Amino acid sequence: MVDSELLRKDKNCWQGMTEGEKKEVFEFCEDYKDFLSVCKTERECVEYMEELAREEGFKSLSDIRKEGRKIRQGDRIYINYRGKAFLMFVIGEKDLQEGLNVIGSHIDSPKLDLKPSPLYQDEGIVLLKTHYYGGIKKYQWTTIPLALHGIVVKKDGEIVKITMGEDPEDTVFTVSDLLPHLAKEQMDKKLGEAITGESLNILFGSIPVKGEEDDKDKNNVKIAVLKILKEKYGIEEEDFVSAEITAVPAGAARDIGLDRSMIGAYGQDDRVCAYTSFRAILDVKLPQKSCLALFVDREEVGSMGNTGAQSRLLENMLAELLDLTPEGCGDIRLRRTLANSKGLSADVTAAVDPNYENTHDKRNAFRLGNGVGIVKYTGARGKAGTSDARAEFVAEIRDIFNSEGVIWQNGELGKVDLGGGGTIAQFMESYGMDALDCGTALLSMHSPFEISSKVDVYMTYRGYKAFYIRGE
Ligand code: MN
Ligand code: MN
Repeated sequence: MVDSELLRKDKNCWQGMTEGEKKEVFEFCEDYKDFLSVCKTERECVEYMEELAREEGFKSLSDIRKEGRKIRQGDRIYINYRGKAFLMFVIGEKDLQEGLNVIGSHIDSPKLDLKPSPLYQDEGIVLLKTHYYGGIKKYQWTTIPLALHGIVVKKDGEIVKITMGEDPEDTVFTVSDLLPHLAKEQMDKKLGEAITGESLNILFGSIPVKGEEDDKDKNNVKIAVLKILKEKYGIEEEDFVSAEITAVPAGAARDIGLDRSMIGAYGQDDRVCAYTSFRAILDVKLPQKSCLALFVDREEVGSMGNTGAQSRLLENMLAELLDLTPEGCGDIRLRRTLANSKGLSADVTAAVDPNYENTHDKRNAFRLGNGVGIVKYTGARGKAGTSDARAEFVAEIRDIFNSEGVIWQNGELGKVDLGGGGTIAQFMESYGMDALDCGTALLSMHSPFEISSKVDVYMTYRGYKAFYIRGE
C-alpha cells in the first residue's frame, strides 16, 4: 500500500502517501484517541481490552479449562491477570515449543498516587497528599486540571470505582503553585528542587460543615468532605488505606497542529505501543507461530511486583497455556517455548525536539513522522542496565518491515552521556528469547501532555502486525 520508493528508513512517512492512506491513518488515530481518553490507569486498560477482546472472539483461558477441552490452532485466548496485566494469545500452526512471537508493552504511566492517609485540612482547605509514581518533572504537574481515577476496596471486599473529573460537567482537582510575585526564592532554586514531592497536594474542598465552630485549624471542612464521600460513594476515611486512587491529567486526547498531524495526550508512554499491539493481534487469524500480546504494569517503577515484567508472570501463564495442550506442560517444554520465542519490547522512545536539539546525536536520532522506531539498545552511560539486541535478530525485523512496506527509523534515546532509560526488553531476554525495542517516538515524554505523530502511531501498528504475521 506504500510506494516502493518509500521502503527505506529515515523517510517522512507522509511524503508519497495517497489521500486514501492518509484517511486510514487519521481514522486509526481517532480510535486510538478514544482509547487514551478512557484508559488512564492500568486497570482501565485491562477492562477495555478484555471487553473488546471478547467481542473479537477471544475466550479466557479459565473458560477453556472449564470446557474441559485442549487448546487448538486458531484459538484466541486471553488472561486477565489480577486486573492489572493482560495477555492475549492467538494459537498458530506450529507447536508452541517452537516459540511465540511476543510483543510486550506496559500499561502503567507516571501519575500522582494518593497516599494511604491522604486527607487533611490546612488553612480552611482540604487537600489530598500524593506520592508520585514514575519519573516526573514535578513542576509540570502543578496548575493543571487533574482527574481522579481508581478503586476503593471496602473492608467487606466491595469495590467502589472512582472516576471524577473526566466528564466536562464534572468537577476537577489541581495542585496550586506560587504566584511569581512571591516566588523569588523558589525561582532561584534548581528546576528539579523548586517543587518538592511533599508539596504536590491536591485541592479537594473548602466548604465547612454547618454548625461546627468556625476555626480554620479545625477539621470542619474535612468533616464536610467526608460527608460528601459517604453520600456519593459510600466510603469512609479508613477506606483510603485499601484504595488505589491516582490523579491524572483531566480531559480527552486532542489533535495538535493546523494539519492535525499530531496527538497530544496523557499516558502515550506506553499506551501508544499497548494500543497498536492490541489492534495488531486482533487482526491475526491463523499465524504460523503462535502470537502473544503482553501488557504489563509497574514498568515506570522498575517492573517489580506480581504484575510487572520482572515477575514470573509470563512463565507462569505460558505454563498454564501449555498445560492445556495435548502434550501437557512439563519443564523442558516450558523452557523451550520461552527460549524459542522472539520478542518486540514495545515501548516509546524520544524524538528530536526542535527546542532542545542538543540532547541528541542527530545521526542516531528519531524524528516525528519518520515511522516506527527500532532501538537496538537502551540503557544509560555506556549501555549500562540494558540488553542489546543481537544483530541477527535486528536483521530479521528489518527484513520483515521492509518486505511489508513498514516505514521505520533507528536511533538512540539521546546523547551518550546525558542519561537514558530502560524497558522490559532485558526481562524478556532473561528467558533466553531474542528481544528488540521497537516503538513510537514521542515529544514531551512523561509529561502530562505527551506528543506523538499520527503517522508514526499507524506505522507502529503496521510494524507489529507484520511481526505477528511474518515472524518466523
Ligand atoms: Mn515506557
Ligand atoms: Mn516511561
